[in-house]
Amino acid sequence: MDKIDIEKYSKSIPEVMIEEDISNSTNVNDVWKIVTENLRIVLDSVEYKSWFSDTQLLTIQNGIATVSCSNEFQRNTILSDYGKFLQNCFLKATGENLKVELVVKENGNEKKEDRYKYIEESDSPMGDLFAKMEDDKKRYVTAAKKASLNPRYTFDNFVVGSNNRLAEAVAQSVVSDIDNELIAKSYNPVFYYGSTGVGKTHLMQAIGNEILKKDPDKKVIYVSIEQFLNELIESIRTKKNEDFRLKYRDVNLLIIDDIQFVEAYPKTQEELFHTFNTLYQANKQIILASDRPPKEINNITDRLRTRFEGGMVSDIQPPEYETRLAILKQGTVEKGVTIPEIYLELIAKNIESSVRELEGALNKVLTLMKLGELPSYQEVAKILQVDLESKRKRATPEKVLQVVAEEFDVSVRYIRSSRKTANIALTRQVAMYILRTELQLPLLTVASAVGRKDHTTVLHGCKSVEEKMKKDSSLTDKIEKCKRDIFY
Ligand code: ADP
Ligand code: MG
Repeated sequence: MDKIDIEKYSKSIPEVMIEEDISNSTNVNDVWKIVTENLRIVLDSVEYKSWFSDTQLLTIQNGIATVSCSNEFQRNTILSDYGKFLQNCFLKATGENLKVELVVKENGNEKKEDRYKYIEESDSPMGDLFAKMEDDKKRYVTAAKKASLNPRYTFDNFVVGSNNRLAEAVAQSVVSDIDNELIAKSYNPVFYYGSTGVGKTHLMQAIGNEILKKDPDKKVIYVSIEQFLNELIESIRTKKNEDFRLKYRDVNLLIIDDIQFVEAYPKTQEELFHTFNTLYQANKQIILASDRPPKEINNITDRLRTRFEGGMVSDIQPPEYETRLAILKQGTVEKGVTIPEIYLELIAKNIESSVRELEGALNKVLTLMKLGELPSYQEVAKILQVDLESKRKRATPEKVLQVVAEEFDVSVRYIRSSRKTANIALTRQVAMYILRTELQLPLLTVASAVGRKDHTTVLHGCKSVEEKMKKDSSLTDKIEKCKRDIFY
């Protein structure tokens, strides 16, 4: 029992809404999936295997959930040790206070006499545990609200790529320092910078959320520099400096966002520096974010700048293609929707600078999908304001060869060579086909692009590809993919 990881559990209790009829089989399956997920999270794997691996939810009818198990001993153990907990899992999964009964199945059949036993309405130790976890979750939610943190920003849904790997590692180390109550912080202050929409706020808030999930009694404050300075100025004006000091003195973690706006407050430099210094000297962890590095922030004193630079300065770059695609995929998972992969690729290819825009584009496509049927590729491109025609015009023969070579796993050099191995010949023909049909280049230009002199080779190659595509849909798919990679 002492192995139960409450923290992990409270994070991942899935919320489902079950409407009206719980008895149909899909719902029964869904409910059981969630119930067992919860059981698995809380019980260690040996416990789960011993008591629940062969249990099954048979029906949910008239407010009773009937669960089968294999023998009397197992049933009694579940009833005595896990009963209340199991019931709570059902409550969580269905939103209903179901009565749970256990039925023993022997040799696949239900035993005739003494078939059913209900879970008593008594409190078992597992029931208490469940209550405690619920309680921890509530405390976290309250703490996050108080800290002005958005619970949506977590490490789980922060996709790590080469653009933010260091920044994320620094973030994890901040969490671990605070969690272990280290006085000497690894990095203090942490200064994140990067252009808008690259994930600075998400990452910083993920740190705050993670700390409060581990311990809701820790004090975290997330604040914009504007709010922070306004409070500071107000406290000076009303001679309540003490209140201000008290508010920030006890923090374990202070997160100040969009620090570049400090430029607009040249007169509060002194106070800001002192406040900052006090916190820093009291070993309070400070995390700052800005759209540019400290040396590019205007209007601040060298002292302040030096302080900003004195810990860990880490940039976050816009993500590359693979990471953008991963972020989009993760977005669809989070929203519980499915979008054809080629659309995600289209978005990822064309929106490069900011994750916020990436999400915006995804939402636009989702809205369109909600309105009715699946939008066409052209329609999606249009929403993204991708000018397919001009992209098409910009496609070069080099690009075609490069994409086709990659798709067919043959080097460009071989396409242009005299080699006639089946795969190389096919790749060459596909290249000619695309150059001819899509780029609409003259026959001789196509021939020379693949290292040939004769236009009949091109005619023959194109015809051959057309024939093959009729018979081989995987070839057609590959060629379609090449076209997308070349043109969009
Ligand atoms: P910034 O503060 O740098 O302007 P945000 O943190 O507000 O950017 O990020 C903009 C949006 O993009 C948010 O919805 C955020 O959740 C999302 N986002 C940014 N980076 C990532 C990432 N690496 N993984 C998942 N979502 C991300
Ligand atoms: Mg931000």
